Amino acid sequence: MATLLLATRNDGKVRELREIFTHTGYALETLASHPEAGDVPETGSTFGENAELKAVSAARATAMWALGEDSGLEVDALRGAPGVRSARFAGPYGDTEANNAKLLVELEGVESRSARFVCAMALASPDGEVVATSRGTCEGVILEEPQGKGGFGYDPLFKPEGKRVTMAELPSEQKSALSHRGRAARAILPLLAAHLS
Ligand code: IMP
Repeated sequence: MATLLLATRNDGKVRELREIFTHTGYALETLASHPEAGDVPETGSTFGENAELKAVSAARATAMWALGEDSGLEVDALRGAPGVRSARFAGPYGDTEANNAKLLVELEGVESRSARFVCAMALASPDGEVVATSRGTCEGVILEEPQGKGGFGYDPLFKPEGKRVTMAELPSEQKSALSHRGRAARAILPLLAAHLS
């Protein structure tokens, strides 16, 4: 069975990626069991660049096939912010409560609240060469107050197009069916199969 390293330490992402890849037959590992792979500074200016940085760094540190993932929220009224800075919108990495509170403050009184989640993925070979990439998006709107307890990050504030509830109110398999991450993962699956056996 081929082994694939998910190049992340984000519990929310790991949960979703494990579920999405569950039927692939790959043995999945994450950076939680690879302390030798340090954290990568996200210095890219696009999700795609950061996904490649994460994949290449994890592959080189472990000599494994590594899947890098970078994702975030683009709000049209904020000219695409928080974008690649989604995890650090309010300051320290991953302070979800502060990030969501800041988003609501910045959108106070704003009527046009269209937004999208974006996810980029990159597959790096054990010697650190990027051999496949993919991208997925999910359109929606930002609500005026949080709803729901599921998911992670900005999910309680994001209502996907065509749904009456937020990402945080959808069962995980329904979130993955329409999410940016689910779409990027399904797009890269055939490319993974071409390289890992
Ligand atoms: P990074 O990819 O580690 O830079 O972090 C991405 C950040 O974007 C997360 O910390 C969340 O704030 C946000 N984000 C990415 N994907 C999702 C999602 O599926 N739901 C909610 N927030 C997300």
